[in-house]
Amino acid sequence: MSDGNSDNSSRKLGAASVVTHGGRDPFAAHGFVNTPVYRGSTVLFPTFEKLKAYDQRYTYGRNTSPTTDALCEAIGLLEGGAFTVLASSGLEAVTTAILSFVEAGDEILMTDSVYFPTRRFCDQVLSRIGVKTIYYDPLIGADMAKLMNERTRLVFTESPGSQSFEIQDIPAIAKAARERDIWVLMDNTWATPLYFRAFDHGVDVSIQSATKYIVGHADALLGSITANDRAMAQVKRTSIALGSATGSEEAFLGLRGLRTLEVRLERHQRAGLEIAGWLASRSEVAQVLHPALPGAPGHEIWKRDFTGSSGLFSVLLHPVAQSGLAAMLDNLKLFGMGYSWGGYESLIVPFDCSTYRTATQWSSPGPALRLHIGLEDIDDLKADLEAGFERMKQAG
Ligand SMILES: *Cc1c(COP(=O)(O)O)cnc(C)c1O
Repeated sequence: MSDGNSDNSSRKLGAASVVTHGGRDPFAAHGFVNTPVYRGSTVLFPTFEKLKAYDQRYTYGRNTSPTTDALCEAIGLLEGGAFTVLASSGLEAVTTAILSFVEAGDEILMTDSVYFPTRRFCDQVLSRIGVKTIYYDPLIGADMAKLMNERTRLVFTESPGSQSFEIQDIPAIAKAARERDIWVLMDNTWATPLYFRAFDHGVDVSIQSATKYIVGHADALLGSITANDRAMAQVKRTSIALGSATGSEEAFLGLRGLRTLEVRLERHQRAGLEIAGWLASRSEVAQVLHPALPGAPGHEIWKRDFTGSSGLFSVLLHPVAQSGLAAMLDNLKLFGMGYSWGGYESLIVPFDCSTYRTATQWSSPGPALRLHIGLEDIDDLKADLEAGFERMKQAG
């Protein structure tokens, strides 16, 4: 951080201070508080010597700009890794991170609970370049060692699992991997670095779909890959080679979102837990999948490893006709139906993991719904859902 606080560098700043000050250098921008948006492709070199030596901080718009650098610095500070690169989406961050470590003949271990487009990348792209994906039970823990062999290059984790919210034993998985020189990658989007310290738990590469909580306003797509010392050279080289280019406009929106990340997450957490607890008491609900809710699946490991929870969780309903489900979802006033999450607004989508899982079986007694609890008044959100349940009953 270079905003005048560096003389006290031995004292570590808290997360709220890091999101507020990280990656800002106002006096490099005439005192303006925020890093400006540097748009551009061409970057000029002042002399032949400099051009020949490629000797300056910025060389070409595709690589980095002061705006993208500012976001990398801030996310890097938050994650506590050695190096951060941006990607134009969370999915590109995932694919770039995986491609940084694999070659033909390798195997990777992939959690069966992974975000579906990550799975699609493995099945449609990695398979064509001779990299085999072995899906594993997200709850495998230390037994992961049994799946590892000399061809295993990396383990990909995502905790909690997309849609189904299994909490993985990351330290046990990381220990098995480290003993065999296997990389550990984690999609850490749900908790963000504020609520899960990936590097402290043995992860080598922490990935964010910054589209979600970091951008926080549903107005941009963005990803980040943060690597430790061991992994950073490979990630950096691969990101440059693949031609990844994150626009400075997007990076600016990421920086603007980041400044309020800590306070937004606190509210998402509180409202999410309150509504999850309320849903658990409803007769329409068979099970709530929210790892921070006492008694919910994964709660013990969540409590051991995480320092908070965000606003995304799922509920499994008792059996109900499609018409009843449609009556509930179609007339919600505050909950919107749509993909992505992490913005300020509440969302709800039905899902079904049973159609694509291969290492585990997944089932729900009735329809399954994923909710994102936004920043609206909690009582208004409950009333919206309650009216939905009433319509479901009437239609049912
Ligand atoms: C949304 C999401 C992604 C992909 O992010 P995009 O920015 O939409 O490409 C990756 N992982 C998880 C867990 C996500 O929720």
